[in-house]
Amino acid sequence: MFKKILIANRGEIALRVLRACRELGIETVVVYSQADADSLAVKFADEAVCIGAASSAESYLNIPRIVSAAEIANVDAVHPGYGFLAESPAFAEVLASCNLTLIGPTAETMRIMGDKALARETMRAAGVPVIPGSPGPVSEVRIACSVADEIGYPVLIKAVAGGGGRGMRVVHGEADMERAFSAAHREAESAFGDGRLYLEHYIDHPRHIEFQVAGDGVQCVHFGERECSIQRRHQKLIEESPSTAVTPGLRDEMGAVAVRGALAVDYLGLGTMEFLLDSAGSYFFIEMNTRIQVEHPVTELVCDIDLVKLQIRLAAGDRLPLSKNDVHLRGHALECRINAEDPDNSFAPCPGVIGAFHQPGGPGIRIDTHLYAGYTVSPNYDSLLAKVIAYGTDREEARVRMVRTLEEMVIEGVKTTIPFHLRVLADERFRSGSLHTGFIDGMVV
Ligand code: ADP
Ligand code: ADP
Ligand code: MG
Repeated sequence: MFKKILIANRGEIALRVLRACRELGIETVVVYSQADADSLAVKFADEAVCIGAASSAESYLNIPRIVSAAEIANVDAVHPGYGFLAESPAFAEVLASCNLTLIGPTAETMRIMGDKALARETMRAAGVPVIPGSPGPVSEVRIACSVADEIGYPVLIKAVAGGGGRGMRVVHGEADMERAFSAAHREAESAFGDGRLYLEHYIDHPRHIEFQVAGDGVQCVHFGERECSIQRRHQKLIEESPSTAVTPGLRDEMGAVAVRGALAVDYLGLGTMEFLLDSAGSYFFIEMNTRIQVEHPVTELVCDIDLVKLQIRLAAGDRLPLSKNDVHLRGHALECRINAEDPDNSFAPCPGVIGAFHQPGGPGIRIDTHLYAGYTVSPNYDSLLAKVIAYGTDREEARVRMVRTLEEMVIEGVKTTIPFHLRVLADERFRSGSLHTGFIDGMVV
């Protein structure tokens, strides 16, 4: 097992990783930007190293600075969290060349899965159903039109390097193609530094169903599904496990497909196989996230497992400590992402200083947050303030616990998405579990 780990992230996920290390008896080093000097991760870590100014390029995305800190602090491994360098094969390679372990899959796996067009092809070849689409990247509008004719409109233009719901455009007919294609190209170029695009048939009102998997390079297991259909602009707001649409039979089937896909790339570590489930009950792979995910706690609660500890053990070379028959789902968990955004003003980010802060508790409640009264929410980073996770013996108990928790929660000084979450949780369609990715757009608020 590792003696010392460097955490190359911030916010709630830096704390989450730090806590796992503590419980495993591993020393921690946190790297931080000047904007995060007063963070709880810096306070709680055994060591903390400032690596630069607030801009991500100078800190959390700066590979040379992070690697220097890792070498000076003499760590064995680096945990990248999510976002930032979590899915960077270049980072994995640099670490490997310095004899440092990246807590994640191999650079090769990241390279395949990080190229969403190549990931599709790799999964298709492994017998995983994919959405009808282009066989690879599409370089020009003319080809996009002929692919779209073949697969049928509407189509979705997606970025090969996409992430965070960005760089996607729905196209309803050939007349819209040219404009959408160049807009998507520009967006992908500026967001990911890679303007390559691919096409998929656009599925109307699907559910987003993803499977948590873990592998040791030889064996692989799944931990059931998470439903993440409550999204705004293709970004998840509420996640839950199990899904109201997944029967035990479908779980076994999709779980086996997810495992088959992961085994096709000799998967090592934690990963998430994302699928869309259409209204006819067919499911299709959309992408794999080769990292710990924001919504991992819902799986932890229903499977009674610590996924981050498992992830660290797998990176250290342990074999999978459990098999399919050791995974039992029980009860229901819901997660709400609380962001510093104004839901009444197009979810505009609301950085600022936190005034009063009250973190509720009580049965079935877990809150993962880096906030405290007086904390400054920086405009430089993602606006996630807290994840509230509610567990219940059934979905309704989890829902009611979530509602009472959000009603108790006090976060002053910034606008938050709490009022919006309360509206969703009270919505009849949400209560009945009839969800799809267009749910929020169709909400009367
Ligand atoms: P998840 O399913 O875990 O929410 P997301 O794709 O939404 O996955 O990304 C997780 C986090 O990583 C989010 O907080 C998001 O801000 C960040 N993220 C995702 N993709 C990118 C990217 N290309 N550049 C910067 N941050 C990203
Ligand atoms: P990202 O890498 O940004 O997370 P994904 O490929 O995972 O991108 O897609 C994010 C979301 O976009 C999905 O959860 C779904 O809501 C929507 N989406 C993606 N592909 C399709 C598709 N072919 N048809 C309909 N919706 C889609
Ligand atoms: Mg995704």
